[in-house]
Amino acid sequence: MATLEVSFLNSQLQERKHRLEQAITLAPQHAGLAGLLREVDSALERMDRGTYGLCETCHEPVEGDRLLADPLVRYCLDHLTPPQRDALQRDLDLASQLQRNLLPQVGLQSGGWETSYHYEPVGPVSGDYCDLIPSDGHLFFVLGDVSGKGVAACMLMTQLHALFRSLTKMSLPLGQMVSQANRVFCESALAGQYVTVVCGQAKPTGEVEIHNAGHLPAIVVGKGGVLRIESTGVPLGMFSEVEFSATRLQMEVGDTMFLYTDGLSEASNAQNEYGVESVTQLVRQRCVGPPAQLIAACLEDLRSFEKGGARFDDLTLLAIRRVGPSATN
Ligand SMILES: [Zn+2]
Repeated sequence: MATLEVSFLNSQLQERKHRLEQAITLAPQHAGLAGLLREVDSALERMDRGTYGLCETCHEPVEGDRLLADPLVRYCLDHLTPPQRDALQRDLDLASQLQRNLLPQVGLQSGGWETSYHYEPVGPVSGDYCDLIPSDGHLFFVLGDVSGKGVAACMLMTQLHALFRSLTKMSLPLGQMVSQANRVFCESALAGQYVTVVCGQAKPTGEVEIHNAGHLPAIVVGKGGVLRIESTGVPLGMFSEVEFSATRLQMEVGDTMFLYTDGLSEASNAQNEYGVESVTQLVRQRCVGPPAQLIAACLEDLRSFEKGGARFDDLTLLAIRRVGPSATN
């Protein structure tokens, strides 16, 4: 563990020791507190001896993010005791359930737009972010991919969800909304954490404002042909003062927009990678029906490409199709 991290954790432990001692003075009969104080003292001793942060079973370093979250952790993930393993599984199940509850309504229709999505974490929780928010007659859509995996990425994803949900209520122009989200995100993300995002507003007139911040190209297919909306900015969470601008396009009835994370484009089999080109081809061939059909066709094609091989990344697909001038609101 780096010296800087150990000294940070040391000050954290000293603070906790102080709090525990205060609590024990107020509630001397609370047996659990005395036990915790012994654990804190033992961790401080290990810091003095230079063995802090090493797993007590295999003597390999314990995962750094787990120590930052709980400085008393003494075993690496591979060497948790059965009760600890069960507790961790319960926590992950709960996190997974919480995250599922944040997903938008399935088959949402709004302002003449029809939608469908597929959200598939590679583990219990996902770092992918997908949302659809009808607001002021417009449909706000966003798809993102948080750097890293697992619980840390999932926490940032939930934060973005809250951020965009609040910002859509403020009726800001899209560029401003993304800039605001970026600034708040920069303040709270740890170094090295960022998120690629493609988001936009679809109006009942078919006009779409879209911004791609470091994400894979969005694909729009219609009578006018195929259009790829490439990234024109850096991911959110990297630089707080960067400006974001939106691209405008006009979508006709029957046109479809397709967004996805690298769980699709970077999926691979023994020979090669699926690739953005295959995604584009597939969307072009299969976009004639409703969005749910396109998503199903895409999953089917991906599965036959993977030939039953393991997947290593979270997968999210989102299809939005213009079905009318303003059929439903
Ligand atoms: Zn271990």
